[in-house]
Amino acid sequence: MRKKIVAGNWKMNKNLQEGVALAKELDAILADEKVNCDVIIATPFIHLATVAAAVNTAKLGVAAENCADHEKGAYTGEVSAEMVKSTGAQYVILGHSERRAYYGETPEMLKTKVELALAQGLTPIFCIGEVLEERKAGKHFDVVKEQVEKSLFGLSAEDFGKIILAYEPVWAIGTGETATPEQAEEIHAYIRSVIAGKYGQAVADNCSILYGGSCKPSNAKELFANPDVDGGLIGGASLKAEDFMGIVRAW
Ligand code: PEP
Repeated sequence: MRKKIVAGNWKMNKNLQEGVALAKELDAILADEKVNCDVIIATPFIHLATVAAAVNTAKLGVAAENCADHEKGAYTGEVSAEMVKSTGAQYVILGHSERRAYYGETPEMLKTKVELALAQGLTPIFCIGEVLEERKAGKHFDVVKEQVEKSLFGLSAEDFGKIILAYEPVWAIGTGETATPEQAEEIHAYIRSVIAGKYGQAVADNCSILYGGSCKPSNAKELFANPDVDGGLIGGASLKAEDFMGIVRAW
């Protein structure tokens, strides 16, 4: 059975003290409450070590929001997968649409990042999704297929089995506009069929595919009710414990 997952992506929000406070608040809730999914928070790099030490990472997984596409060396300002791993983080978000759009991350760079993350034993949460023009032109299926093929289909079946996917239509990220449950299910099922075509049905059935894009407590339940939607990657609504837990409790 594939995992159900709710992951928060804090992006460039919260200073260290605010971030640690939110992480501790979630940790305290999860110490007492039995939830029906894995829960992960992705924090800015500088928060990772402190957050990972402050929470029970068996109940509240910790993720970086990115890592470098080089192993080590003269890359001023970059943070390697090994460095992320050494903080106690277990996951890394890769290929977020904001990284692709604002920092020029290419499918080839992301392929390298995925490989470096896996080599360190980090679990990539790999984001794919189309922009509005592509959806309007009916190209969204081809876009996500190409994103998965170019960055992930060089992996062995064993390594692909370690990846969490997040389908995030760019037009729904931070806009308040959400894919309908039907739109989400349609493309999640398609993504799973693409994986099955490459790696076989068993690998596809084991792959958790999260939905991201203005997911909130009020719409999480209907999104998660779809058979191929295995949870959510949550931006804005992950910044308050109450909102984030509202989504976790939708499972
Ligand atoms: C995201 O950026 O991963 C995201 C889903 O953001 P939001 O929930 O704010 O749309």
